[in-house]
Amino acid sequence: MLYVDKTGGAPNIYVEAVGIMKVTPDTPQDYDHLPPEIKPPLLEDLTEKQHGLCVYCERRIHARENGSGSRAHIEHWHPRHSERGKHDSQAAKEDDKLSIEYRNMFACCDGATGDGEQCCDKKRKNIELHVDPAEEECRRRISYCPGSGHMRGADSDDGAEADITVLNLNERQLVANRKSYISEYLRRLFARCSGGSAKTRNELEKEKQRILALRQWPEYGGIILAMIDKRLRQYGG
Ligand SMILES: [Zn+2]
Repeated sequence: MLYVDKTGGAPNIYVEAVGIMKVTPDTPQDYDHLPPEIKPPLLEDLTEKQHGLCVYCERRIHARENGSGSRAHIEHWHPRHSERGKHDSQAAKEDDKLSIEYRNMFACCDGATGDGEQCCDKKRKNIELHVDPAEEECRRRISYCPGSGHMRGADSDDGAEADITVLNLNERQLVANRKSYISEYLRRLFARCSGGSAKTRNELEKEKQRILALRQWPEYGGIILAMIDKRLRQYGG
C-alpha cells in the first residue's frame, strides 16, 4: 500500500465544485451529485500525487488515454456504500459525507492480475479497510517480504492482515510479477553499490533522491523506497 501525502489539500477546481454543490438548494451532498466534468481532473490530480501508481498494489496506472499500465479510476477508501450504511441511516450519512472528502479518495488500478483473478478495489468491493494510505503509519503497518514477494502486516496487526487478504495483495500472479520486478531493480542497484560502505551509502541516497524527484515513480516505488531506507539504516544512513 502506497502512503499518499494529502497534506497539500484538494485542487482548487475540486474545492470550488464542492463549495457550489453545498450552496445549491435541494442537492444531496454526495459523490454522485458532483458535476461529472470535475471527475477527470480530480483523477489526474490523484494519479499525479500517487506518482502514477495504484494506491493498493503500486502497479502503474494512468489517468488519460494511452498511458502505460492500467486505466485508473477514483477509489473511495471508506466505501461510498458501506455494509453498515445499508442498515443504519447515520452510517449512510457518514458514507455520503466521506464520499466527497478529498482525503478519502485515491487513484486505483483496474484490478486485473493477469491470472483471471482480481485485486485492489475490484476485489474488496464495499468491505471497510483498516490501514489508511493517507496516514504515514501505513508504511509501518504493511511491509514487503523480499524472500517470498508477499505483503505482510506488522506483528499482531490483524487489521493490516485483513486488508492484505481483502485486497488480494498476495494473489499468485501479482506476487510473482512484483517479486521479479523488485528483485531485478534491487539487484541492479546493489550491483552499483560495491566498494565500501561510504560509496554504498552514497549510491543508495542518490537513488532514493532520484526516485523522489520523479513525477512517475518506478512500479512498486513505495516498496522500493522502503527497501532502500532499510539498507541505508544498515549503513547508518
Ligand atoms: Zn491496484
